[in-house]
Amino acid sequence: MIVAQRKTIPELQNIIKGHKNILVLGCGTCVTVCLAGGEREVSIISSALRIASKKLGEPIKVNELTIERQCDNVFIETAADEIKKYDAVLSLGCGAGVQAIAERYPDKPVYAGLDTAFLGILESRGVWTEKCAQCGACVLADFGGICPVTRCAKHMLNGPCGGSRVERCEISPNQPCAWQLIYKRLKDIGEVDKLKKIYPAKNWSKSLDGGSRTIIREDHRI
Ligand code: SF4
Ligand code: SF4
Repeated sequence: MIVAQRKTIPELQNIIKGHKNILVLGCGTCVTVCLAGGEREVSIISSALRIASKKLGEPIKVNELTIERQCDNVFIETAADEIKKYDAVLSLGCGAGVQAIAERYPDKPVYAGLDTAFLGILESRGVWTEKCAQCGACVLADFGGICPVTRCAKHMLNGPCGGSRVERCEISPNQPCAWQLIYKRLKDIGEVDKLKKIYPAKNWSKSLDGGSRTIIREDHRI
């Protein structure tokens, strides 16, 4: 899932400064699961903004709405009548959701209320970890399902780097060495011979470094 974090209330106050009639718009998918931008967070942030504006002696109207997915026009459409009523939208969707709303309403200020962080998983209650850097050319099949691009601090495809200590990464000692994990995993599944291969430099042309990417599925365009 996409993992994001809420901006602070002072940051949000600064972002919506000058607007008197705001819609705080939540998203019911990834950011709900990572407790950043679902219905509950929309309610908390809206209340906090109302109280903060009253304390400043400049009360603003803040209303709340959460749609199922902000990154999909079908769901954005369900909020169309509501969005039109406000000076600005404070989106608690991920970066894609915010931009999808902004594109749909070119004349309306649409602000990001979250910091979108990474693609990851819920590791344990309240703890999310990054697992995929969306490189566009997945190599998980070669490395036992453990991503060296994301989880090795040096993004090495021919690791380890030689700096790990007691199975911890030399760059981030709070993290396990990704290459230690890869070795153990390949050994456990009987594929350790894969490590005999020298991997060529990764082709990064499919990654974000080539600019924003588009995927076209011709079979769905008929
Ligand atoms: S190899 Fe690329 S696509 Fe696959 S998990 Fe790692 S970053 Fe993500
Ligand atoms: S110690 Fe392991 S995870 Fe850290 S940079 Fe070296 S190979 Fe990568």
